[in-house]
Amino acid sequence: MKVNILSIEYIVNNVNEKDRKGDMGEADFLNKAITIYKHDNKQEENKTLLHEIIECMNHEFNIKLKHEQIEKLEDAIYDTWRRNDLKELFE
Ligand SMILES: [Zn+2]
Repeated sequence: MKVNILSIEYIVNNVNEKDRKGDMGEADFLNKAITIYKHDNKQEENKTLLHEIIECMNHEFNIKLKHEQIEKLEDAIYDTWRRNDLKELFE
């Protein structure tokens, strides 16, 4: 799978094992790759992908969000998307 983030194409690698360091995912800005480690459920994996996308935006625009802020945005955006049907925003 690939995701286009601000016109930059990132390849998304789903790894079928949990990361030893306990990370849920990681973004490699240099190689334009996002790694998503195995989670207990698919929803958590999707949420981690959103997290890494925000990490890439933060990097690309040099927003300088702290990691805790990225985590809160991840929770807030994911929750809002799930509770609302916002497809028409993109039509
Ligand atoms: Zn992170």
